[in-house]
Amino acid sequence: MPLAQCPVCEKSISKRAYACPGCGEPDPFNSKVKSKVFRSILWLVLIVGGVYAFWIYGLPLLIDFVHDI
Ligand SMILES: [Zn+2]
Repeated sequence: MPLAQCPVCEKSISKRAYACPGCGEPDPFNSKVKSKVFRSILWLVLIVGGVYAFWIYGLPLLIDFVHDI
């Protein structure tokens, strides 16, 4: 079982521990990485969704507007 230091209390705990048995820190080795990945995925979805919405709804309106001139 690989051991590592808890970032909060610096006690040697298993890297696969879901919570530190010393200080009770939940998910001491993965939580920061996971939230960062989750946030970048959320941004990606928002940007792609915005571009897609513009492409489907915004662009035909823009083309109609240009054709009317
Ligand atoms: Zn700890």
